[in-house]
Amino acid sequence: MVDGVKLARSISRHSAFARQAAFELSPGPQVRDDEALAKAISGSIASYGHPTATAPLGGPDDPHAVVDGRGRVRGITGLRVVDASIIPQAPSAATNLTVIMLAEHICHLDYRH
Ligand SMILES: Cc1cc2nc3c(=O)[nH]c(=O)nc-3n(C[C@H](O)[C@H](O)[C@H](O)COP(=O)(O)OP(=O)(O)OC[C@H]3O[C@@H](n4cnc5c(N)ncnc54)[C@H](O)[C@@H]3O)c2cc1C
Repeated sequence: MVDGVKLARSISRHSAFARQAAFELSPGPQVRDDEALAKAISGSIASYGHPTATAPLGGPDDPHAVVDGRGRVRGITGLRVVDASIIPQAPSAATNLTVIMLAEHICHLDYRH
């Protein structure tokens, strides 16, 4: 990762990026040697998830399905779930658009059923 930061620095400091990369925000140009860079990197590493599929939709024969294709919760009348939790499996695509697609699709279905 130290090598990666150094490479990113050398690219962003190229004259071709002069207008786009005016200055380095983090860790900052004052952090120069490998040891200091490694410390700055390990102190700022973060991760976040895109949780999905905790109440997956599925067909009537799917033992893991919590909701059907209309978001209706099995065994509970009048309750629907339409969010990232009903995506059947963690998608390889970003989840926001997937949720919007699901919501648009389900809200246009006939609610009388
Ligand atoms: C940091 C971060 C970056 C992301 N970047 C991207 C990205 O670049 N592209 C992408 O496609 N996806 C991205 N995602 C994922 C995407 O935002 C989520 O997958 C998506 O928003 C999930 O939609 P949702 O409707 O399931 O849940 P949410 O969007 O979390 O909606 C849940 C809603 O329920 C509300 N709520 C919670 N509890 C209650 C309660 N008790 N009563 C009433 N309301 C309640 C919350 O306030 C919230 O508005 C990112 C997620 C994070 C955390």
